[in-house]
Amino acid sequence: MPTHPYDLLILGGGSAGFNAARVARSEFDARVAIVDGARELGGLCILRGCMPSKTLLWMTEVLHLAQKAKNLGLRIPAAAPNMPAMQARKKKIIADFAAYRATALNSGNYDLHRANAHFIDPHTVELADPKRTRLTAKKILIATGSRILTPPIPGLADTPHWTSDDILDLARVPQSVIVLGGGIIACELAQYLRRIGARVTLIQRSPRILREHSPEASAVLQQALRDEGIELHTDTRIEKITKTKHGVRVKFIHNATNKPLTREAAHLFNALGRAPNTAPLNLPAAGVLTNEQGRIRVNRWQQTTTPHIYAAGDACGPHDIVHLAVAQGELAARHAFLVPAARKKLRPLNPAHHLGVVFTSPAIATIGLTETELRAKKIPHIAASYPFNDHGKTILMDANYGYVKVLADPSRGRLLGAEIVGHDAGELIHCFTTPLVMRATVRDMLRAPWYHPTIAEIVTYPLEELAEKVAQASSP
Ligand SMILES: Cc1cc2nc3c(=O)[nH]c(=O)nc-3n(C[C@H](O)[C@H](O)[C@H](O)COP(=O)(O)OP(=O)(O)OC[C@H]3O[C@@H](n4cnc5c(N)ncnc54)[C@H](O)[C@@H]3O)c2cc1C
Repeated sequence: MPTHPYDLLILGGGSAGFNAARVARSEFDARVAIVDGARELGGLCILRGCMPSKTLLWMTEVLHLAQKAKNLGLRIPAAAPNMPAMQARKKKIIADFAAYRATALNSGNYDLHRANAHFIDPHTVELADPKRTRLTAKKILIATGSRILTPPIPGLADTPHWTSDDILDLARVPQSVIVLGGGIIACELAQYLRRIGARVTLIQRSPRILREHSPEASAVLQQALRDEGIELHTDTRIEKITKTKHGVRVKFIHNATNKPLTREAAHLFNALGRAPNTAPLNLPAAGVLTNEQGRIRVNRWQQTTTPHIYAAGDACGPHDIVHLAVAQGELAARHAFLVPAARKKLRPLNPAHHLGVVFTSPAIATIGLTETELRAKKIPHIAASYPFNDHGKTILMDANYGYVKVLADPSRGRLLGAEIVGHDAGELIHCFTTPLVMRATVRDMLRAPWYHPTIAEIVTYPLEELAEKVAQASSP
């Protein structure tokens, strides 16, 4: 028998689920239950995603700067990682963040159930607790996140391998690692491994790493990773992975030349991606459909194919990004509880405002539509870019990789998108976020003061070029 009739029942207390709960409770005084089966509360971002990875990447960025200090005329003789100390610092930081989230979840504002759940019918879930407790609710949000994917590559499942969870917990520098994959997590953590001192070989199937980014951005990062000593193979297909006496062996073919290659290393890192964590939910019982990747299908209000059931975060995508998970969770909660008249003021999330950051060094950051998307949608646009190796502040910092590129509409110069590859790109991209959302033009951006010498003022060069193009196009 159902025991708890809730207004909103949330499966998963990570970024999407927690923020949906917060909004439902604080804005609508809804009776909310959160069900989470994790041993430790906090969600992926805090426990095994953004925060631990960025803590370690920042440490190795400082290490890297110290190691290349002689370029700046400095003598820093023995900069080296102290892995136990790095892990201790990371653990302390993550424990504090997780405790903060756990306190909020246990605040009494929500009923928290510590078990996994699956659907019995569109309003009922059953918990995997000894009593097999059943909970019912008027509305349900699925925010169960994602899990590591192990694709059917011959030998992979039978060969011991690390995942991102293992890399983030390494207490010693591994002698050598083969990284499978060329997505964001693969690139960020391959550079981390190289910078702590491991020999790293990265093997990627696509013709370039970060295939969802522009070819120019990929090319700059590929060069930077090779310059740091990572052996990079793109455009490959893996024939076989085997366990050896001393580690692993990967046999693969280079597509362009059809040449077979073999690489060996002490360890293998599976960075081939993540899949939505939806299979154990018994979604058919709730009438919730998924797409071919297993992501839950949602409309622009995060409603699934069963309208009183919503989904948010990695469980539905389209991108595994925290600020998106939070925004989707909040949107779902508002849509679920706003009265119909007030719902009219609600805005769906705008894919033309998409913001993404890759925390490699140089970093890659994008906002808005990319040039490829603009071309595919046949949206008229003009583009201008400027390289970091010709800008005063980045030259004096010896931060020469990369460029900033701006995309605007040709008639008024309204911003359509921007891409930054280079030092602190993840911070710099925020020069563009508010102007883009406020529909500013390149001229509007140039009316703002830009301090000299800063990295940010590099942005003014492509803006000026675009402003000139717009002026020429509109002059009689
Ligand atoms: C190494 C790494 C680095 C990353 N770095 C970044 C970054 O820098 N920036 C960024 O934006 N994103 C980053 N991400 C992605 C980001 O962490 C995720 O997009 C985000 O945390 C997803 O939030 P979520 O709420 O959808 O899922 P989660 O936070 O994973 O929450 C899902 C919750 O659901 C629970 N659950 C699962 N199944 C059930 C069930 N059946 N019943 C009950 N509970 C269940 C789980 O226990 C979990 O607590 C990174 C990811 C990784 C792996």
